[in-house]
Amino acid sequence: MTVKSLPARIIDCPTCGEKVKFTNISGMSGRHVHFYALDSNDIIMREEWSDKLEELISSKSSDAEIENYFSKELLRLRPEKRYSIWANVKCPNCNTEFPYRFVGNLKARLQDLAIILIDGCEIDTDAESFTVKLI
Ligand SMILES: [Zn+2]
Repeated sequence: MTVKSLPARIIDCPTCGEKVKFTNISGMSGRHVHFYALDSNDIIMREEWSDKLEELISSKSSDAEIENYFSKELLRLRPEKRYSIWANVKCPNCNTEFPYRFVGNLKARLQDLAIILIDGCEIDTDAESFTVKLI
C-alpha cells in the first residue's frame, strides 16, 4: 500500500501518558463523512456519503433513520463490521479510545470536519487507499 508522509503533532495520551503522533486534516471538500475502525485507527470515507447526509437531513429523517443508513453502508462495504459510527481514534500504546467531543450528537458526529490521523493508520477513500506515516 502507498505510504504518505505528513507532519506530526504530538499529544499526551490522557490514559497512559505516552506521546502520540497525530495530525488533523479538515475540510477535504466533498468527502468529510468518515468513520474509524473498531479495532484500529483506520479510516473509511466516501464522497457520496456527504450528499446522502445532506439529503437525509433536508428530508427531516430521524437520527435513527440516518444511523441505520450509515450502519448499512458500513456493513455493505465492510461486512466484517470493521467500522462503526461511534468508534473513535485510539492510543497506539494502551489502545484506549480518546474522548470524543460530539458523543451522542449524531449529526455533529457525521458532519465533523476534523479527521484525526494517528501514525500508521490506513485511509480508504473513493480514489485511493494509503497508509499514513507521521514524521
Ligand atoms: Zn495511551
